[in-house]
Amino acid sequence: PYVFFFASMAQMSMSLAFMLLINTTLSNQLKNLAATDPLTGLMNRRSLDIEIARQLANEQRHGECLSLMMIDVDHFKKLNDKFGHPAGDEVLRRLAHLMQSVVRTNDYIARYGGEEFCILLPGTTETQALVLADRIRRLFTDLIIEWDGNIISSSVSIGVADTEHDAHEAHSLLSAADLALYMAKHQGRNRVVPFSTYGQHDVSIIARRS
Ligand code: GH3
Ligand code: MG
Ligand code: MG
Repeated sequence: PYVFFFASMAQMSMSLAFMLLINTTLSNQLKNLAATDPLTGLMNRRSLDIEIARQLANEQRHGECLSLMMIDVDHFKKLNDKFGHPAGDEVLRRLAHLMQSVVRTNDYIARYGGEEFCILLPGTTETQALVLADRIRRLFTDLIIEWDGNIISSSVSIGVADTEHDAHEAHSLLSAADLALYMAKHQGRNRVVPFSTYGQHDVSIIARRS
């Protein structure tokens, strides 16, 4: 009876451990799904918002500058209309891949909405972020995408803001980068605009935007 009892106990413990393992794996997979954009594999908007809050708290503790880029594909609707939605999806995946290849490991790239992306750069000033933003813009302009017998090329407009010049709260940092992006579109697209230089001065455009 003792042998039988201990054998049963061992079997039950093993079953329990196995169930716990499956449970943990499934819950990790669910967490990943909730945090990731399925098309590009980048962070989604929800995870970026959480990360911005975390990095802002960090920035206040250590006094480090934090920059944010907002990147939007130019005339993307026309591109979809001309080449089809799957081609548009491929352009988004290629842009995501390009950005991943140029940022540092402690930067965060997110798909913020349809054809809009954000890059959060801890320990980076606006001037440094501008250099990276222009590199992304140039690399994307030079990118040739072959799709279904067609050659597709596109461009991006980028707005940049930082915590040193522009904003100290998540919503104001995001809206500063968004306004700078709006200025980049307004000035003709395929360009990078820092909020500190242009955004806050053109009151008429900001007023129309809000
Ligand atoms: P602008 O230069 O002013 O940014 O013009 P735009 O055409 O890029 O901007 P608009 O907001 O007019 O259109 C964005 C388009 O992006 C419309 C929408 O159908 C498309 N879009 C959004 N999400 C996806 C997606 O996941 N895949 C594809 N292929 N298209 C998408
Ligand atoms: Mg667009
Ligand atoms: Mg857009």
